[in-house]
Amino acid sequence: MRTAYQYRLRPTPRQVAWMDGWLEPLRRQYNYRLAERFRWWEQNRCDIHACSLTVCHLPQLKDQPTFYSQKRDLVNTKVLVPVRASGTESLGFVIKTATLTRKVDGWYVTLSLQAPSVPELNPDTPAWENTIGIDLGLDDFLVTDSGESVKVPRHYRRTEKKLKRLQKAISRQKKRSNRYKKAVKRLAKVHQKLANQRRDFHHKTAHKLVQTRKHIAHEALNIKGLARTRLAKSVHDAGWGQFLQILAAKAERAGLLTIAVDPRGSSQECSGCGRDVPKKLDERWHDCPHCGLSIGRDQNSALIIKSRAVGRPVLKAQEMSCYRAGVTVREAGRSP
Ligand SMILES: [Zn+2]
Repeated sequence: MRTAYQYRLRPTPRQVAWMDGWLEPLRRQYNYRLAERFRWWEQNRCDIHACSLTVCHLPQLKDQPTFYSQKRDLVNTKVLVPVRASGTESLGFVIKTATLTRKVDGWYVTLSLQAPSVPELNPDTPAWENTIGIDLGLDDFLVTDSGESVKVPRHYRRTEKKLKRLQKAISRQKKRSNRYKKAVKRLAKVHQKLANQRRDFHHKTAHKLVQTRKHIAHEALNIKGLARTRLAKSVHDAGWGQFLQILAAKAERAGLLTIAVDPRGSSQECSGCGRDVPKKLDERWHDCPHCGLSIGRDQNSALIIKSRAVGRPVLKAQEMSCYRAGVTVREAGRSP
């Protein structure tokens, strides 16, 4: 089993000086590599964008720096940064990597640990009974297929005013003055607190879900695509990406699966009969004219996501339950 823990460091001034010494070459390395890429674009820029092949002479393209070529060159930086890690094997853990991070309120070390003694858990195959479907949203942070919802804590909105005020305070100060530096630090601390609160919320929510001892089906997100729209602020606030990461880690440790499914059309499909029920974004209730199913829009999506995850098309499920219980389509829709 592989896991990671982050610890706060309390380094002595001398150690801080060391670590700062390590960071400096890394910063230069980053800027140098970035410049390398910009330079390539500059050098290969050409006025000609259309010409006959026989007349014009096009300059030879220079070697483009890529991720791999730059990575190969990293050994030269490592010579500049002599870091040695000594692994301990207390508690049966082997430290695989240690990452030092400087945050606004001090230093942190993240240890990636491997425990060879902990056996890998083999999760059972997801089925309708042992799986829970969740729909991520903006009004509610998430809604489960049984209709339970978790509200979004609007930390960001609440702290936004504070951030704005601090931002203004910075712009009033003279650049690089002592007061300016102090103001910047205050702002950074508010940002950090916000991030901590958000992560805490994600951990607690994920913990609750994992405690149900069920596999978790969720929509596959295209965070980047969503964040570019006007919903950006809310999307970043909700921080779905981080949440799903935490959820996946917690589930894995509990021997459970997280299943990402294609959410396309999940809000328009009826979880009772599988037929299309078109609705606009502001329609929060799902009323199916075909089977009479009437539930919350998000709960319906959660049910669709769940049925996609367990590989059971809604229509088939409905046929089966009709066949077994001999109920009408209407009834089957109510109790999927
Ligand atoms: Zn229906």
